[in-house]
Amino acid sequence: MRMSQLFATTLREVPAEAEIASHQLLLRAGMMRKAAGGIYVFLPLGLRVLHKIETIVREEMDRTGAQELLLPIVQPAELWQQTGRWDVYGEEMFRLQDRHGRSFCLGPTHEEIITWLVANEVQSYRQLPVVLYQIQNKYRDEIRPRFGPLRSREFIMKDAYSFDRDAAGLDENYRKMYEAYARIFTRCGLSFRPVEADSGAIGGKGSHEFMALADAGEAAIVYCDACGYAANVEQAECLPPEGDGEAEAQDAGQARAGEASEPGWRRVETPGQHTVEEVARFLHVQPRNLIKTMIYLADGQPVAVLVRGDHDVNEIKLGHVLDVRHVFLADAETTERVTGAPVGFAGPIGLAQPVPMWVDQAVMAMKEAVTGGNAKDTHLVGVDPTVHFPAGYKVADLRLAQPGDLCPRCRRGRLQAARGIEVGQVFKLGTKYSEALGAMYLDENGRSHPIIMGCYGIGVSRTMAAIIEQCHDEHGIAWPMTVAPYQVIVVPVNAAEAPQWEAATQVYGQLQAAGVEVVLDDRSERPGVKFKDADLMGFPLRVTIGPRGLKEGKAELRWRASGQEEAVPLDQVVSRVQQAIADELQRYTP
Ligand SMILES: [Zn+2]
Repeated sequence: MRMSQLFATTLREVPAEAEIASHQLLLRAGMMRKAAGGIYVFLPLGLRVLHKIETIVREEMDRTGAQELLLPIVQPAELWQQTGRWDVYGEEMFRLQDRHGRSFCLGPTHEEIITWLVANEVQSYRQLPVVLYQIQNKYRDEIRPRFGPLRSREFIMKDAYSFDRDAAGLDENYRKMYEAYARIFTRCGLSFRPVEADSGAIGGKGSHEFMALADAGEAAIVYCDACGYAANVEQAECLPPEGDGEAEAQDAGQARAGEASEPGWRRVETPGQHTVEEVARFLHVQPRNLIKTMIYLADGQPVAVLVRGDHDVNEIKLGHVLDVRHVFLADAETTERVTGAPVGFAGPIGLAQPVPMWVDQAVMAMKEAVTGGNAKDTHLVGVDPTVHFPAGYKVADLRLAQPGDLCPRCRRGRLQAARGIEVGQVFKLGTKYSEALGAMYLDENGRSHPIIMGCYGIGVSRTMAAIIEQCHDEHGIAWPMTVAPYQVIVVPVNAAEAPQWEAATQVYGQLQAAGVEVVLDDRSERPGVKFKDADLMGFPLRVTIGPRGLKEGKAELRWRASGQEEAVPLDQVVSRVQQAIADELQRYTP
């Protein structure tokens, strides 16, 4: 490819709409353009990267025995109504009607239609197991599309679905997919962690997210270096404080102090002190000595939820233990009605309206605690949960894990925090969709059973953005060799000088003949401009042909990522470049 003909215009300025590196660089390097909010054009260079990622995905899917098909983007509403998701999806679903008034959606995902397909095609256990996948556009009308391909409204996904007759079969397919995903992201050059995840709205039990580690990531994860445990912070378990040696020692110390002073709780005035920090400072205690009481609406019904002052409620865990669909922090009016006080003074003792009370397990280990007093400018001190809480409360793990927590798995390491971009997810779906859509099989005895399903997604366009988040510097993108749009760029310093031009075109032709993916910068631009563009677009290797090197019959080979340079005799450029490509590809081989 000649640069003068390449359909790619680079931008010197950072586009105002782009907040993070991947979004900025995809626009600046001429790989992508915005068509509408969260909807993008992929230009030739960007599309080459997407195709390379797709090729890696296909090779690894095929290696597991999965078979590729292509499902429609436009899907009939009836299938979604059968699983109940036509209503659940809400505003995020793009909906349309045909000329006869029939309703359709643009597929945000494809569980319904693939299950319908398999329900029609599979009758017998002899047809199982089967794993099907596609690489297809998906549509979600995000309320706030941002970060380019990381949160867009149209995006490319690989989605696979496994169909098994029993749980052991599902486990086996899940394991195969998990391993394929690790190979895919390794080959894409990503630094990633598989983390235990909440399976959220999609249903079913058992899920891992593959997180590309990046500060720009929207997902908060915690991990333990001692044992490798990693989890989405929404999912991470918390040990009861009994398991936490540090907390135990401190709590015991407070308990002794409490016995020595005063056995019961008492009311104190805390004028104008609302937040945990304000109250703690005012009363000369630590936030960990306070109990936060929050009124939530669980499917519309108020409940009181208690966590330690330095902890936060995990609304996903809360939703699970309450077994409800929606959990929201209550509005001020509800909180005031339940507590009989303005917001900021809720407590477990003396609520105006009795409501179910859920207490995080860490609270139960507290002594001499401070709680809200259910009256304006009032708190209670000296509260001992086991003694003073009104009867009928329930205890559970309800809080968000924090950095510094003892690892729930090995109980030796301390959790650390990181941010990640979710590039893939594997789910055990079970029979939710097969039961709703009648995907059954007959066993050896002619008995009918629902097929057991798993689903497995990879964000292809998102993976491209995640790679850039990890592989860039102030000059631009530095693609891993496995996904680079072209492997090499050949740059004559001055294309108007005949010897340079001749040497450059000769090397370019030889590399092409050797099967190397190569760009020739044949433009009459200044060398600085050409080098800047090459760095911005991120070709892994650059061959520069300039007057000084030519005198010695040499070209300069430069690695984009490391900046390493090497003078190579002209007649050895092809073999040296081939060797460098092979070495780079080897780095990303699982
Ligand atoms: Zn651990």
